[in-house]
Amino acid sequence: MKYVPEKKPIYGENLDSLQNRFAEMGEPRFRAKQVLDWLYKKRARSWDEMSNLPQPLRDRLEQEFEIAPTKRILAKESADETEKLLLEMGDHSLVETVVIRAPQVGVGQKDSRKTICISTQVGCAYGCRFCASGLAGWKRDLSVGEIVSQLIHVCHLEDGTTERAREEIASFDNIVVMGMGEPMANYENLLPALRILNASWGLNFGARRITISTSGVVPKILELADEPEQFRLAVSLHGATNEVREQIMPINKRYPLEVLIPAIERYAATKGRMVTLEFILIEEINDTFEQADALAQIALRLNAHVNLIPYNSVPGLDWKRPSLTRQESFYDRIRRKDVSATIRREKGHDIAAACGQLKLQTEQAV
Ligand code: SAH
Ligand code: SF4
Repeated sequence: MKYVPEKKPIYGENLDSLQNRFAEMGEPRFRAKQVLDWLYKKRARSWDEMSNLPQPLRDRLEQEFEIAPTKRILAKESADETEKLLLEMGDHSLVETVVIRAPQVGVGQKDSRKTICISTQVGCAYGCRFCASGLAGWKRDLSVGEIVSQLIHVCHLEDGTTERAREEIASFDNIVVMGMGEPMANYENLLPALRILNASWGLNFGARRITISTSGVVPKILELADEPEQFRLAVSLHGATNEVREQIMPINKRYPLEVLIPAIERYAATKGRMVTLEFILIEEINDTFEQADALAQIALRLNAHVNLIPYNSVPGLDWKRPSLTRQESFYDRIRRKDVSATIRREKGHDIAAACGQLKLQTEQAV
């Protein structure tokens, strides 16, 4: 399904495409840079704020481009300061963006680290058995502008009223592409969107601070390995043998571990950076010592970091989160093998921060 909005989202444009558009309009090319400056540096919310553009040009831009990012219909804050934005697209589809604040470990000027989690699709076609986004299936891909505008929303939420305040206040430390959808299944919009965030004329946000999480779409992992940017890769493993992984993630039939692991190895080698393996702990499904040992073996082979995530229950799915003791013994078991690992102490559990859950709750309530 493809959604074509009435006006093109301005946040889907890049320097080249805008320069070309201005050339077609008979306008000087430098206008493109001026517009992008207003959008990304001064964070203008209307064409009228763009005071160095002639009024007739502003009127024309208004007719052709949509400047308002997607519509924010709900912002929920949880006790641990995780904040969820539920955004409505032009076709009324709902998408979520999460702001996670974590205390800074070690020395730093700021006392908390802010991570923004963005979505790439409405729903998801991959149908992982633990995931709310997969429940309702895939509806459509987000456009470049819809992906970028999620970050703009976060900036707008926190921007001060003066230009100076805007530049200082709206900052975040990391972007993770871990919200609704499989990013690699929308690669053609994902990459241009990340390049806009990364560009010096855009948000100027370092590629090394952007993590793309995938359920293991092997050809796209290999394609991303060959891109020039140093994006970080996280792979949702969730099962350390084909037998267990297949039960949890249907994609494992298409790209089983013997195909996935070499692809991750290749990514790590090309970028020279550690990859993260995500592993949701689900009671009696993948929380055994056999799984811990198999996971440790994979992580050591890949020199990967393991992120253990206690399963968040999803309405309509009947799997359970293991007890704290079971979680800890799984963690200890892999740590004893010298695997670099962390165990996530839930962020935003009370507002259902795991992917797709806020959207699901809202839809079920209406
Ligand atoms: N499609 C991509 C990115 C989105 S899902 C992928 O699969 O990697 C990203 C993450 O959301 C999952 O890896 C998992 O860490 C988290 N997640 C989804 N459902 C969850 C649940 N029920 N409990 C805990 N984490 C969940
Ligand atoms: Fe899709 Fe990722 Fe959820 Fe699997 S975990 S259904 S790939 S969003």
